[in-house]
This record gives sequence, structure tokens and C-alpha cells, in this order.
Amino acid sequence: MVKLHEFQAKELLAAHGIDIPRGIAASTPAEAWAFAAGLRAPVVIKGQVFTTSRAALGLIRFAATPAETRAAAEALLGQRFGKFTVEQVLIEEQVEITHEFYLGLIIDSKRKCPVLLFSRVGGSGIEERAESTLRKEIDVLRGLSETEALEMCQQAALDPDQQAVIAAAMLKFYATARAYDARSAEINPLVVTSSGAVMALDARFSIDDYSVFRHPDLGIEIAREFDHPPTALEKIAWKVEKDDYRGTFYFIQMLEGFPKGSGVIGFHGAGGGGSMLNMDALLKQGFQVANFVDTSGNPPASKVYRAARIILSQPNIDGYFAGGSGVASQEQFHSARGLVKAFMDAPLNVPAVIRIGGNSEEQSIAILQRAAGVLPAAVEAYGRDDSPDTCAERLRELIAEHVPAPLPPRSRPQSQEPYSFETVTGGTITYDHALCRACESKVCVQTCVPKILSIVDDVPVLNITRENAKTGGCTECLACEVECHFLGNQGGFIHLPIPDLEGNDGNSD
Ligand code: SF4
Ligand code: SF4
Repeated sequence: MVKLHEFQAKELLAAHGIDIPRGIAASTPAEAWAFAAGLRAPVVIKGQVFTTSRAALGLIRFAATPAETRAAAEALLGQRFGKFTVEQVLIEEQVEITHEFYLGLIIDSKRKCPVLLFSRVGGSGIEERAESTLRKEIDVLRGLSETEALEMCQQAALDPDQQAVIAAAMLKFYATARAYDARSAEINPLVVTSSGAVMALDARFSIDDYSVFRHPDLGIEIAREFDHPPTALEKIAWKVEKDDYRGTFYFIQMLEGFPKGSGVIGFHGAGGGGSMLNMDALLKQGFQVANFVDTSGNPPASKVYRAARIILSQPNIDGYFAGGSGVASQEQFHSARGLVKAFMDAPLNVPAVIRIGGNSEEQSIAILQRAAGVLPAAVEAYGRDDSPDTCAERLRELIAEHVPAPLPPRSRPQSQEPYSFETVTGGTITYDHALCRACESKVCVQTCVPKILSIVDDVPVLNITRENAKTGGCTECLACEVECHFLGNQGGFIHLPIPDLEGNDGNSD
């Protein structure tokens, strides 16, 4: 889920007809002063950071004059709260309140429907009043009806003269949440002012990750929930994930700026539960993890490759550990080939332990073990019968024995007789037909998973059009480079760009 700032949530509500106090999101004290001076009325100043209990943290202040407004904005802007810095303050007119309500919406995953929540008492402490909060399951196809909204107001025993206006606010709120694919939303408090207006005084919206692409107007840079502003690497990882719907690649950076030798590991998980088991095993060995990564849901080898390159780009990690549940149904050799290519390209300069249990486990372990001989650091591969604890302990031993011998990233080979085509994620596959002609195995053709290669005049060529290869005919299984490297004449090379990744020389644009 992606959270919106209060001012963004209110803009959405206002666009759907719900009144909000007059206000602006100010980035400088001067902007705050200018708004208050133009308003000629007392204002409230609210720091825009993702945290609860803002009033208790001093993030909400009141000002009677433009000078006080500027001083409050100065005090808040630039302050750090947790991992966030206040970059904007919301300056709003103060309103006189006669009633406060709570209005919320959640998506109930068990019941598979939106649930509208309403309480006749709004403001802080709504969690403690959960039992008295009314809940209404909504038919997602039909939506919230006027009758249902009115019934909820009656059930809450609202004054008869309030029922119609609050029901109308409920309908607009539901329409906003629906239009923006909210996983959760709330107006707290929804108020009636002394002039009788119904207003959203505070609001929160969390948007479904998978719908972010439908709402470019929200300007969401990364469709992921973070407890910190996204790091440069998290932005790079998101670019890999956002346009490739095959499987999932989730990357969160947990530690930065640590020195070499502090026992921090680049972590590559597969599946939520399995990842947790493996991370626990690392922690038991006294390691810390630099990052959390999950590549699961049958990702192509190219996605695993890019994930591994991003993990390895973290400076000063002491080791690399990959592991999942050990019983994955997807063919593990795709992940094995993705890892092997990443380890060759980076190249790997810390010991790596890979626990790659599941379908095609033996073949996958063999692919990884075969590569161990050509890499500058140790790689060991294990299967489902080897516990995460055993694997983590083995990594500790390998790190203790490791003698660093850093090498530059692998360069892209020069082809004498290049035959090239593009892939779906902007990659380029090149076969050097001069080398291919002398290749006895032609292993690329046998191992190409979707069988899109044929031998013509003793060299491999596509048996589909280049356009078909580019639109997904080539699944980026990486076999025609990895298998060729070990069993062929090393005539195949795949260039998979990772925009903005430093040290990506062998595979940069
Ligand atoms: S295995 Fe490699 S060298 Fe041999 S034909 Fe295929 S791409 Fe060319
Ligand atoms: S051409 Fe075939 S072997 Fe090579 S990456 Fe594409 S699908 Fe895999």
C-alpha cells in the first residue's frame, strides 16, 4: 500500500465534492506567511510526515498571525521524525467545530469486499472505540447506495437534520476511495462546523500498489510502502520491477554506510515465509542483513539477475545469501542462471551461499556449482535437505576463509560476426557467429526454454521474428549465455541494462 500525505488525500476528497478547509501545502516559511497574510484569519500548521499522533509529537501548531505562522513553519520544516524529514507543512484556516465524526473504509481481504466504518465520535482514540464503530460491508459491483448510507446514519442515532448531509458525505467519500483504488481511507474527524458545513478536517488514504499505474496524477514515484524515504538503490530496483509483471521483485534497503567486516550480508529471499526463516538463520549466526529482497512468483532469470546485481552493488557487504522455502514449485534453474550471470558480471567478490530447494533442485545446484570454478569468491549451493541454519553457518565459515581479490565488472565481448535481437525488458542478445560456427555443442538451441532458436548454416538464429522475440517470445531465461559459457564456445552474450546502477559496466547502455 502507498500512503498519501494529508494534503493529497484532501485534494482528492475536494475533487469529489467534500468540503475541506481553505489551505495550502507550503515548502517554505515565506509561503506559509503569504498564505496566512492573505487569509487574514487564524490558521493551523501541520507537518506532513507519515506518522500517527502528530499532535502529541508537536507536529500540529496553531497561529493567530502571519508572523506566528511563519515561525511555526520554520520550526517544523526540516525537522526529522523517525526516518522522515518534514518537507512540507499544510497551512489551513481554523474552523469552529460543533460535531466530530469518524468515517473510514478498509478492504476486508477475508470477506473480499470494502467495509465502510462510521462512528458518531471522531478525533483521536478511534482505536479504543473500535467496538462501538459501525461496519457496513459494501457490494463492490453495486457500490454504496444512498439508502445504505442513510441507514448507517440512523443506526448511529445521528440527529435527523444531520443524517442527509452526513450520508451525502459518505457517498462522496466512498466514490473517492473507489476512484483511487484505496486499500484503506479515513476522514477523522469529519466535522460539522458552526456554520453548518460538513468538512474533512484530517484524512488518510492508502492506495493499492498494483493500481498506482492507473493514477499518474498522484505522482507516486514508487508503489511500495516504506518506513523511510526511498534510497537511490530502492529507486533503481523499482524501475526494474515496475514494467516487468513476470513474478515479483521486492527490494528494501535496511542498512547503509556500514564498514567492511561488520558482518552485514546481502540477502536474496524467495517467498515471504521462506525468506523469514533464512533471515532468522543469518541473525542467529550474528549477521545483519543489508537489505530484504524477495524474487518469487516465478520470475524470469533476467529479474533474478537484476535483483542480484542490485544486492551486490551495496558497498562493504561481507557475504551473499540466497534462500527460499526449499519446496518451491517453480523451476529453480531460472534463478540459478540469473544468479550465475550476475556473479560473473559483477563479479562476485564476497562468498555466497545459495539454498535453492524445490523443483529441478539438483539441476539448479549443478548450475551454481559449475560456476564456482570461474568466480573470484566461493559459491556453495544447497537444497531442501540442508537447513537454513546449516547454510548460514557455512556462510560464516566461508567469510572467515575469504581472501578478497576484487575485479572490475565484466566487459561486454566484442563480436566479430554479431547476430543480435532485443528482449522484452530492453535487453540485447548477441551471438558471435564466428565463434558459433566452430561450436560443437550448439547447447544454446537445446537449452532455450521456449525453443525459439534453430541452427541454420551451422549458426543459431531465431525461428520467430525479431518483433516476436522482443514482445516476449524470448523469455530471458539466460540459457543461451550461461550454458554457452560453460558448454559452448562462449559466443552468446546477453546485455541486460539496469539504469542508474553504478559499476554496471559490462551491462550498461
Ligand atoms: S552455444 Fe554459444 S557458441 Fe555455441 S552456437 Fe550457441 S551461442 Fe554459439
Ligand atoms: S533466446 Fe532462448 S535461451 Fe536465449 S534468453 Fe531468450 S529464451 Fe532464453
